[in-house]
Amino acid sequence: MRVSSAANNTYNERVFTLVVVGLQSSNQRRSEQTFTVSYDRLQSTVQRINACGGRILSVTAGNASAPAHSPGSSASNVPKAPATSTVTDTPSKPAHKTVPVNLYKPKAPFIGTVTENYSLLKEGAIGRVQHITFDLSGGDPHLAYVEGQSIGIIPEGEDAKGKPHKLRLYSIASTRHGDNMEGNTVSLCVRQLEYKNEAGEEIKGVCSTYLCDIEPGTKVKITGPVGKEMLLPDDEDANVIMLATGTGIAPMRTYLRRMFEPTEQEKNGWTFRGKAWLFMGAPKTPNLLYDEDFEHYERQYPDNFRYTKAISREQQNTKGGRMYIQDRVLEHADEIFSMIENPKTHVYMCGLRGMEPGIDEAMSAAAAAKGLDWSELRPQLKKAERWHVETY
Ligand code: FAD
Repeated sequence: MRVSSAANNTYNERVFTLVVVGLQSSNQRRSEQTFTVSYDRLQSTVQRINACGGRILSVTAGNASAPAHSPGSSASNVPKAPATSTVTDTPSKPAHKTVPVNLYKPKAPFIGTVTENYSLLKEGAIGRVQHITFDLSGGDPHLAYVEGQSIGIIPEGEDAKGKPHKLRLYSIASTRHGDNMEGNTVSLCVRQLEYKNEAGEEIKGVCSTYLCDIEPGTKVKITGPVGKEMLLPDDEDANVIMLATGTGIAPMRTYLRRMFEPTEQEKNGWTFRGKAWLFMGAPKTPNLLYDEDFEHYERQYPDNFRYTKAISREQQNTKGGRMYIQDRVLEHADEIFSMIENPKTHVYMCGLRGMEPGIDEAMSAAAAAKGLDWSELRPQLKKAERWHVETY
């Protein structure tokens, strides 16, 4: 779906050109039809298109220089207004077929060896988050993976029913070349789950505690890799907006290393020329994960990388409340939407499930300010494989 805005126009004077396919009333069901409508008829036109089984490929805002039409009228040949930007359904897809999946399954997992386990938090941080690396040498097949995938870990021991523990998924935090660039390791970023149950007892998560406490040299059952939701586009000119909270930074770290880490760049032969923008949410500054690396990338690549932090317990939003990632999204709504208008822009969201409603609310408000309906736009972006969400 294409969306663009024309400056210096009041909404009601604006016209919008919609490119639609699949209208049931159309003789040429597969071919594109173009409709130009005024702003006040936009919503009802969209509803009629949906009711007629049509799919909107694009909405382009322009000046009122063309006559207004709506679906059902015969004017399917209205010239397209010049598109200032686009959100099409022809994304720059990665080669999904070549992405490895399920090379190792729970019944016959790969046995990796822990090489490193260190804290990612600074003095005064809340909780516990560890960066853990496993040696993958010697597997047949080799446990290959790409940026944006996850692996499964089967913790040692048995559950309350005396059965072996089930696997838990973790987003991979290293590029396919691993942190050592030798292509034989995988790294994770794991937060220890801790909560109080109804009886007020302190409960610690099984697998996250197993991993956070693990010693180098320990053998670990690994499955996967899995996941195609969070893959990066192949396009070197793609733009990448990243919304991360907590360990949701793991896939973002892989993207940013792929883009900006010198040895990785040499290995992958992929020259990122687009814009990457990371929004990172954390409760306190010492909880920011991989912060120095990202600061460094921002200094090295000011034209290609932007890093915006929301530190809830230290910063205030415009209403005087805690600064969450959605507040940052709202603050930069105009720029974010201008980027989203470009079909080369992908948005990635990762972290705790609780972040989704806030982001959705912020995107709805930002879209409404542009005369758009986020509840309609989001599925279009999703369908175009440009809206990527992995929350847990
Ligand atoms: P468990 O012992 O399995 O306990 C979890 C259970 O505890 C929950 O099912 C719930 O019933 C209960 N529980 C949890 N919180 C509360 C609460 N506040 N009150 C009451 N009950 C509660 N985690 C990471 O740390 N890093 C990652 O990169 C990461 N990536 C993931 C990627 C994917 C695709 C998915 C699906 C999950 C990911 N996770 C990640 C989460 C991870 O898989 C585990 O769920 C997490 O580590 C907890 O597992 P555990 O064995 O420690 O907890």
